[in-house]
Order: sequence, then C-alpha cells, then structure tokens
Amino acid sequence: MTQTSFSSLALKPDLVSNLATLDYNEMTPIQAQSLPLIIDGKDVIAQGKTGSGKTAAFGLGLLQNLDVKRFRIQSLVLCPTRELADQVAKEIRKLARGIHNIKVLTLCGGVPMGPQIGSLEHGAHIIVGTPGRILDHLDRGRLNLDNLNTLVLDEADKMLEMGFQDAVDAIIDLAPKNRQSLLFSATFPDQIKGIAGKLLKDPIMVKVESTH
Ligand code: ADP
Ligand code: MG
Repeated sequence: MTQTSFSSLALKPDLVSNLATLDYNEMTPIQAQSLPLIIDGKDVIAQGKTGSGKTAAFGLGLLQNLDVKRFRIQSLVLCPTRELADQVAKEIRKLARGIHNIKVLTLCGGVPMGPQIGSLEHGAHIIVGTPGRILDHLDRGRLNLDNLNTLVLDEADKMLEMGFQDAVDAIIDLAPKNRQSLLFSATFPDQIKGIAGKLLKDPIMVKVESTH
C-alpha cells in the first residue's frame, strides 16, 4: 500500500514543522504517489484533477532537494498565467517558511521588466514564472540556468492551450541536459505527449482520479 503519512519521507525538520502549521496531516493521493519519486530524483508525469494537491507535490520535492546554502537558481517552475504563478510561489513560500534565507522569485509577463532585472541580480533559489517572460530573460542573458537541478511544467495542458508550446520548447533547449524534469497536468492530450517526450527521461507516470 502507498504510504500516506508525511513522516514516511524523512523530510527536513523545517518542512515537517511547516506541514504541521499548515495542517497538512496526510499526503493527498497524488502527493503519496509522486513525492517519494520526486525526492528520489526521478522524472515524473503526474496527472490529477484541480485541487488534488499538485503544488505541494512538486513544491515539497523541490524544497527537500534544494541546497539552501548554495545561492543559485536550482529549480524553475513554468506556469500558464501570472495568477497561477503567484499561487504556486505563495504555496512554496508557505512550505518553506523558516528555512533560512530561501528565495523564491516570480517572473511573469504583464509586469514591468525593471524590478525583475533587479531581483535577478540579487539572485534566487527557485524561480516561478510564465514561459514568455522566462524566455525573454534567458535570451537577454539575465537568467542563468547553469545550476538548475529541476524543471517543472505545472498545468502543462493549460500552458499548451494558451500557445506557449514554442516558448516551453525553447526553455527546455536552454536548460541543462542533466536535470530532473516534472510534468503536472489535469489532462493529458496528445500535444502534451510531444512535449513530454522532449522534456522527460524515462518518466514514471502517476495518475490519480479522485481528489482525496
Ligand atoms: P492542484 O494544483 O492539484 O489543483 P493545489 O496544489 O492548488 O491543487 O492544492 C489544493 C488545495 O489543497 C490547496 O488549498 C492546498 O493548500 C491544499 N493541500 C495540498 N496538499 C494538502 C495536504 N496534504 N493536506 C491538506 N491540504 C492540502
Ligand atoms: Mg495546480
């Protein structure tokens, strides 16, 4: 049987105490199936409905595997919209509360470039953003992915629906080859299979039908 207790994972103590504060007592089914694999460094495709807890599934994985002492961009999360990117960043910051000096930076379109450039100069551990703006920063040499360990596509179906296929493709090409990749989606249309083939290496598929 799949373990549903967070205590089966040997998470960092700060993460354990934040989960208690958030009242996350048990893993949701998608978390129970994907989180051990993510922590183990595997490439994962996870399909689950809205509300199934996908953000904490990859968020806890990123935070668990992050080396906080190394102030370099180690994780990049791509989201379809600014609202979704803000939600993801907010959830990751909640999960990371108290972990010393951890920096989660959002980079989305529709907001001025200037402050983003300034923030990038200060550095970050985790970047969350929309594909167009991320690619823009990469093209201009402002975003360095040399130390990237994990690339996440969140709401991949929506991202492709919104026409981000080319930008996502280009970002994948610019990311280091030796990385972990994670793909989260509510649905799995054919278009995603194309990008999954390019993104992931020997991925493990995790699919959860119900929310809880
Ligand atoms: P999805 O991305 O799959 O649509 P979210 O990551 O937004 O889902 O999570 C949905 C809600 O469930 C959020 O309010 C989140 O705080 C909550 N949640 C996530 N994981 C847990 C958990 N293990 N226990 C309790 N609530 C959780
Ligand atoms: Mg989500």
